[in-house]
Amino acid sequence: MLTRIMNGNKIALKLEKKIKKKIKIRKKNKKRIPGLAVIIIGNNISSKIYVKKKKKACKKLGFISKIWKFKNNIHENKILKLIQNLNYNNTIDGILIQLPLPNNFNLTKIMNSILPDKDIDGFHPYNIGCLCQKKPKLRPCTPQGIIKLLKEYKIKIKGMHAVIIGASNIVGRPMSLELLLKGCTTTTTHKFTKNLKKHIKNADIIIIAIGKPKFLKGKWIKKGAIIIDVGINKLKNGKIIGDVDFKSMKNKASYITPVPGGVGPMTVLTLLKNTLKACEKYHEN
Ligand code: NAD
Repeated sequence: MLTRIMNGNKIALKLEKKIKKKIKIRKKNKKRIPGLAVIIIGNNISSKIYVKKKKKACKKLGFISKIWKFKNNIHENKILKLIQNLNYNNTIDGILIQLPLPNNFNLTKIMNSILPDKDIDGFHPYNIGCLCQKKPKLRPCTPQGIIKLLKEYKIKIKGMHAVIIGASNIVGRPMSLELLLKGCTTTTTHKFTKNLKKHIKNADIIIIAIGKPKFLKGKWIKKGAIIIDVGINKLKNGKIIGDVDFKSMKNKASYITPVPGGVGPMTVLTLLKNTLKACEKYHEN
């Protein structure tokens, strides 16, 4: 069996061009260009890298991006006040809180203070509720980006048995909702799941997001399964690898996403897509 590598960089580039065209038309029609506000608290090195990437992507597509950086000791009320101001700032369409937040912050309180129409990460209970009820509005970026990637490769997942490994609020849970919406039968697994390998063996498609390098082995999967690797793990030598033992999937999986260059670029692109959508649908002019 030939294993096809799904090139997230290539697909993201193609979709970027579509967004650029839409921005050009907005400008021509004297409409506002979309604005993204990013709030980063603390000193997490990975977070700083992700924020830089988002800023670069905004610049490339001609979006406005504004970044607020704070030290760990900033008072939570100041962050809540800033979010309130951004909620009513009509040049800003999307508000993003870079995760993880330092432990001294109430994550739920902060995330829930973002207006759902500006919640371009799709994490607000209102937006998750809409996805749950099959009426999606702003949807979490990584799962949405994965669905788009599968669509671009013309992979028909309707009726497939999907096994999701990892059940976080940002990837695993919304991923299972997206797959349900697409007509998959879903099994969501996590660190307490018994007989994980039994579930994996039955899967037509596996999405893994657990943050454990080379966890998923080729010998565990059904021949022809589709493998989506969300994991980002930095090794001591600086190399970035996923949660999948990539080499062991050769001639066993039908499709696989590489790390880097698979899911990651789709996540960033989807963030911009959500910001544009928020601008077009919710805060016109
Ligand atoms: P998380 O730590 O919030 O959740 C991890 C999940 O994995 C939990 O539900 C846990 O129960 C499960 N898990 C842990 N060990 C397990 C095991 N042995 N078997 C089954 N389940 C197990 O993580 P997260 O925020 O969802 O991120 C997961 C990974 O995905 C990380 O490497 C992160 O960097 C990466 N990530 C990548 C992107 C991207 O765009 N590519 C986006 C978000 C997260």
